[in-house]
Amino acid sequence: MALPNWYRRCIGCGEGRDKRKMLRIVKNKGQAPELDLQQKKPGRGAYVCPNSQCVMLARKKRGLERSFRCSVDDQIYEKLIQQVSAVENRKS
Ligand SMILES: [Zn+2]
Repeated sequence: MALPNWYRRCIGCGEGRDKRKMLRIVKNKGQAPELDLQQKKPGRGAYVCPNSQCVMLARKKRGLERSFRCSVDDQIYEKLIQQVSAVENRKS
């Protein structure tokens, strides 16, 4: 069975859900991965649930490395965790 096109798997917990409810991380050639809040930036995308725990899980599992097939600095994960928790706090 084909998966619907909005279906994305979280690089942290591995759960699949609607990509519009997730955060997109984009990676452009030669650039560091960054959070793409509008989900419109060009490049390879990876998705994570909108909570910092999943980003931490992704760091543990090296989820970005697997999605982008490149090495990802710990600092980048740190930055993403900060950004994601800022989004989290804005919502609650
Ligand atoms: Zn998740």
